[in-house]
Amino acid sequence: MQKQKIRKNQREQDPEISAVILGGVGFTSFEDCSYRMISTPYGNVTAYTREMKKRQVAIIPRHAGTQEHTPPHRINYRANVWAAKELGAKRVISTNSVGTMKNHPMGSFVIPDDFLDFTKNRVSTFFDNETVHVDMVEPYCPEIKKCLKDSLEKRSITYDEGVYACTEGPRFETRAEINMIRQFGDVVGMTGIPEVILAKELELCYASICTVTNYACGMGDGKLTVDEVIETLEGAKDVLLGVISDAVSKLPAKRNCSCMNATAGARV
Ligand SMILES: [Zn+2]
Repeated sequence: MQKQKIRKNQREQDPEISAVILGGVGFTSFEDCSYRMISTPYGNVTAYTREMKKRQVAIIPRHAGTQEHTPPHRINYRANVWAAKELGAKRVISTNSVGTMKNHPMGSFVIPDDFLDFTKNRVSTFFDNETVHVDMVEPYCPEIKKCLKDSLEKRSITYDEGVYACTEGPRFETRAEINMIRQFGDVVGMTGIPEVILAKELELCYASICTVTNYACGMGDGKLTVDEVIETLEGAKDVLLGVISDAVSKLPAKRNCSCMNATAGARV
């Protein structure tokens, strides 16, 4: 494997990237991948490319970066999403681990259909020098969501749809916070925001598949530990990859959703 910068003449020869996978915890093995360094205005990003069911995909491990495991509040979200666009992809599939606030089975999957943003210190826009109010009536791409759901159903895998609440972290939430958030949300995580917003601003299609790795604070038997999160993720990893690879192979060649017009009429 040779690290290479993307140059224009190389880009023309590269196979088209059908989707970028923004991989969460557990996306650490990249066998059979080649990798590229992508320069963005926000920093460099390493993307691993490989074939999935005859489609070319790029995987960007979200927690990679200058540290061994970049914590959720320090992830360079803007660089990662910008790199997805730079790769020429129009679609982004994100994997996130979540705590359930509604008793979903451990290791089951949730496809977010809306979100609540409880983050505090993250830059959530590319538009620093102009006012752009991007519509969020449908934050997650209906086409990708359908492909993910079809893939889960084909495999008879338990899943649910629901509202994803994002907290700042890196600490877990308090009981009082979960008591409040669960009135409106279904699962809670720390990495889904601002990715979905940034993708929308770049008019990319974005959807997420969340693995339920733990009960939210106060809903399980005691203290939350990272070990239980990792253990559940490891158990679900192969299934998750299979679901994503099926979904990628079913993505229509042309986008028929409205994600590509997300900023139309949004500028002041
Ligand atoms: Zn879309």
